Parts: sequence; C-alpha cells; structure tokens
Amino acid sequence: MTTDSALPLRIAAISPLTEVEGPGKRFAVWAQGCSIRCDGCFNPHLWGAAGGRPTGPDELAQQALASGAEGVTLLGGEPFDQADGFATFARTVRDGGLSVMTFTGHYLEDLRGPDAPPSFAALLAATDLLVDGPYLADQLDHARPWVGSRNQRFHFLTDRYLHLRSRLPGLADRLEVRVSPTGEVSINGWADVAALDELLQDSTPAVGRGSVR
Ligand code: SF4
Repeated sequence: MTTDSALPLRIAAISPLTEVEGPGKRFAVWAQGCSIRCDGCFNPHLWGAAGGRPTGPDELAQQALASGAEGVTLLGGEPFDQADGFATFARTVRDGGLSVMTFTGHYLEDLRGPDAPPSFAALLAATDLLVDGPYLADQLDHARPWVGSRNQRFHFLTDRYLHLRSRLPGLADRLEVRVSPTGEVSINGWADVAALDELLQDSTPAVGRGSVR
C-alpha cells in the first residue's frame, strides 16, 4: 500500500540490483527527462519529459528498501529536473538505512547558486555521493569508474563513501548484461566503444545509462 501524496516521478527504468552503477549493490533509477542535452549523450531517448512511467516517490522507496541493495543510484535523464520528488524518495530510503548516489549534468556550484530552487538543496541534502557535470564527448574518462568525461567530479557530501576517494582511479568500469526469458537483452554500465560494439553484434540493448563512452 502506498501513502504517496507527492507528484509522481517520471521513471524511464529501474534496475533493482546492479553492481555497475556505483559502490556495491545498488537500486538504480533512470529519470525520464533531461533539460541539459549534452552533445554525444548516449541516452537521448531519456530527454523527453513526457515519457517514462509515473511512479510515486514513496512507492519507489518501498521497492528500493525491499531490494537488498546497500544504496540507490539516481541517474538519467536528469534527476534534478524532478528534484522535489527525488528528494522525497532519497530522504525515505536514507531513513531506511540506504545510501544515495546522484548523477547530474549540472555543476554543484550551480545547484547551490542563488537561482537554485529549494528542491535542489533538498536533494543535495539527501545525497551521499554526487557526480556532477555534463558529459563532454571530447574529454572521455577511462581512468575512473561510473563517469563518462574528465570534467565530471565526485563530491562526497557525507562521509558514507569517503573511503573510496583515494581508491577511485583503481576501480574498473564494468558492464552488466541481462537476458530475459523472452530473449530481450539489456545492458547498463560503462564500456569502451569497441568492446560494446563486439558485444552488441548479435543483440539489441533495451536500456542503459550512456551504455558506452
Ligand atoms: S549525458 Fe546525462 S545530463 Fe547529459 S544530456 Fe544525457 S542524460 Fe542529460
């Protein structure tokens, strides 16, 4: 039973237990809609705000809390385009003991700027690890996990993942490939383009966060 009173979130996809979208096992949520629209974005099908599936923040939080994940990862799309609903979701899962990692195409300075709405501060306050900055296709990052380009930064907003700060360059990017009983293939995570091309020769991906870089 849901107690949702907030406006529903527009969700493009969920991975209830992934090991390639942040530290440990995570409940990953791809937001539908992105106002940033980076050149070379691998998820342009997530730009439109009208698509996706409407889901209440509390309903989504109950799914995350029951997933067995150590934390949730918000990506997209642009989570801050729906900051109010994602802040509600993030607060609820953190109250339940999960960590929160949030990707954004904005820079943290802008999210904290004088024109930022209060919902931005609310989502930042409920985030442990923030990855900020737009994807820049001419600055591919092959050294750090989870990010696509060198301009993107890790911000440890709480001490939950501070132990990772010095270890990040040594963590490898990985891909997850799932095959459903009906043969549908879905891929998420990051990989070298050549490696993904080889992988996709005989398959069709269903979803991915910028599945390649
Ligand atoms: S890379 Fe991320 S922030 Fe940039 S357009 Fe794509 S979804 Fe939006």
